[in-house]
Amino acid sequence: MMTTEQITSLYEKHVIPTYLPRLALVRGKGTKVWDAEGKVYLDFLAGISVLNVGHSHPYVLEAIQAQAAQLVHVSNIFYNENQALLAEKLASLALGGKCFFCNSGAEANEALIKLARLWGHDAGKYGVVTMRNSFHGRTLATAAATGQEKVQKGFDPMPEGFSLADFNDLGSVESAVTEKTAAVLVEAVQGEGGVVPAEPEFFKGLRALCDEREILMLCDEVQCGMGRTGRWFGFQNYDVEPDACSLAKALGAGYPIGAIVTAPKVADVFQPGKHASTFGGTPLACAAALAVLKVIELEGLLRKTKNNGRLFVEELRKLVDKYERLVDVRGAGLMVGLVVDGEARPLVDILMEMGLITLDTAGNVVRFLPPLNVSDAELEEALEIIDEACAEWHGIAPAEEEERDEQEDTEDPQIEAVGLLEPSEPGEREGDLDIPSDDELAVATDEENMPEV
Ligand code: PLP
Repeated sequence: MMTTEQITSLYEKHVIPTYLPRLALVRGKGTKVWDAEGKVYLDFLAGISVLNVGHSHPYVLEAIQAQAAQLVHVSNIFYNENQALLAEKLASLALGGKCFFCNSGAEANEALIKLARLWGHDAGKYGVVTMRNSFHGRTLATAAATGQEKVQKGFDPMPEGFSLADFNDLGSVESAVTEKTAAVLVEAVQGEGGVVPAEPEFFKGLRALCDEREILMLCDEVQCGMGRTGRWFGFQNYDVEPDACSLAKALGAGYPIGAIVTAPKVADVFQPGKHASTFGGTPLACAAALAVLKVIELEGLLRKTKNNGRLFVEELRKLVDKYERLVDVRGAGLMVGLVVDGEARPLVDILMEMGLITLDTAGNVVRFLPPLNVSDAELEEALEIIDEACAEWHGIAPAEEEERDEQEDTEDPQIEAVGLLEPSEPGEREGDLDIPSDDELAVATDEENMPEV
């Protein structure tokens, strides 16, 4: 296997540097990932909310392996059973209409935008109102829909037909809507915008506004969907049903798949020839997604996410009280942002060094997106690392910190009751873990072990 140095040097020569990758990761299992040198990390980013059921979940792995051996791709010129089953399943989870399948979040949002334009076409409506600090993708249309200048800078002229309103400000959306507006596109929780949840009055108000002005309410569920907030869809936290929504990221647990789910009102807007995607909804992608949905149900991950999210936020709030440069904690379910005073990147770097993978967002927010089936012990271990990392970031020496901890333990017995784990050195953690071997990962390719298809 290559070393991190060998991998990064090939990147420098041959990979277009649109990203600034940090670690070279070579293996993942559950909430844990290993780098090329064998150091283990707790992955509290989960591929930016892609691995909601964890890395290499055996059920998903088996479904992918079995389907890959049977039928990978047929094109949408032909029916495929898995696409039919997945569409039925998604529509049963919300909205009750029909689905279209593609390959990524940007593509799913692009489909929503095209659907809105087609729906409004005869009435001369084409505009889409989106929110400041939103994120909807990097294609030209979805970058134009994104409410962040940095995403658009250098690519002008941007496609027309998009206007911005302030998130959580209904009056601002009202002012942005004109007689040319076809839809409002909104995230229930802005992820890239700093983990900011919509306020209930705003979300309910948007639905009422869309009804009143006869425009579509569209939700981007790419990051906050698939159980991330403790509901299948983020909008379900508000008892509000949009007319359509987009999904991607966690839908295939890393196997690329995107989708839009519609309500009956707009389920037949797209007709043959109006939209397409060669790879959209292949038997393989849909097998992965069906397995992910099953795991979320079988492991009770919606309830678990709500409970663990609450516990995690409570514990982070205690750290906010403890460290002066921690400002706030916000989010929904296991989509959690820790707001800090200043740039979050140095803290994220310390966390990574200590074995916890997170990501900074919106400059001053550390974003936590662990797999939804993260264990109690892993949550506790992560909290211990965060505590240690915050101490280091504040320039508090370990001995000094221990003293403070002891004092606080006697002051607040609740902290003890949570039973935080002793921190382990990265090397020790690795020894404790069951690193899957290639043979183990390959076991389901053995004919005898193939699940029934
Ligand atoms: N929408 C939201 C809310 C996202 O968070 C993202 C990606 O981070 C996208 C859309 C774009 O998804 P993709 O990168 O799969 O195109």
